[in-house]
Amino acid sequence: MISRRDAIKTIGLGAAALGIGSLAGTPSAQGAEPAAGPFTLPPLPFAPGALEPHIDTLTMEIHHGKHHAAYVKNLNTAVGAVPAIAGWSLDRLLTQWDAVPEEVRTAVRNNGGGHHNHSLFWESLSAAGGEPDGALASAIKETFGSTAECLAGLRASGMKVFGSGWTWLVLDRNKKLIVLGTPNQDSPLMTGHLPLLGFDVWEHAYYLKHQNRRADYLDALCKVVHWPAVAARFDRAMA
Ligand code: MN
Repeated sequence: MISRRDAIKTIGLGAAALGIGSLAGTPSAQGAEPAAGPFTLPPLPFAPGALEPHIDTLTMEIHHGKHHAAYVKNLNTAVGAVPAIAGWSLDRLLTQWDAVPEEVRTAVRNNGGGHHNHSLFWESLSAAGGEPDGALASAIKETFGSTAECLAGLRASGMKVFGSGWTWLVLDRNKKLIVLGTPNQDSPLMTGHLPLLGFDVWEHAYYLKHQNRRADYLDALCKVVHWPAVAARFDRAMA
């Protein structure tokens, strides 16, 4: 695990590196061909149009089939270039990212984070909507007052992300629920947080339908949270 000092350093680096980092983390449209493992693009758990009208079909197709696919391809290229990290799991690459050899550390950070973040994102969405229940519902009520206030916090955090990044509901090291933002494709795992629910606020996630209106997109996302998946992550973490 990385130290608190390193975590703080990471946050500082992430903010300072926004310009260069977001360019380095932008997958090319040509980068989506399947590549040799070890990592593979998971299928979308629903049809690309399943979240209409909240999230449009074309955005889902490009977001998953081009952007996420490129993160997987580029991660495989980076990991394949360095025998020292062959066989590392995605979780290990992210929680121990400062131990990744320097020549591929930025590529692993951007593309490993991108792969992990998007895999979790797809599993966190559903047209069914609804509300959390069980232990997660109790923890949300205790921490935020209500699900609506939790989502309002997530939304506000997403509005504050400058440039490209994510907003998250996570468990901290004390297993307390908190909301935080991350720059670029940084994963909460890199600072010792366990991600439960993440909203992608890169423009590629909303620009085709909502153009510059990130607030409208975040409102739409709040209507398609797949709470059972979030609750299952919470229950596994608390077990
Ligand atoms: Mn994305």
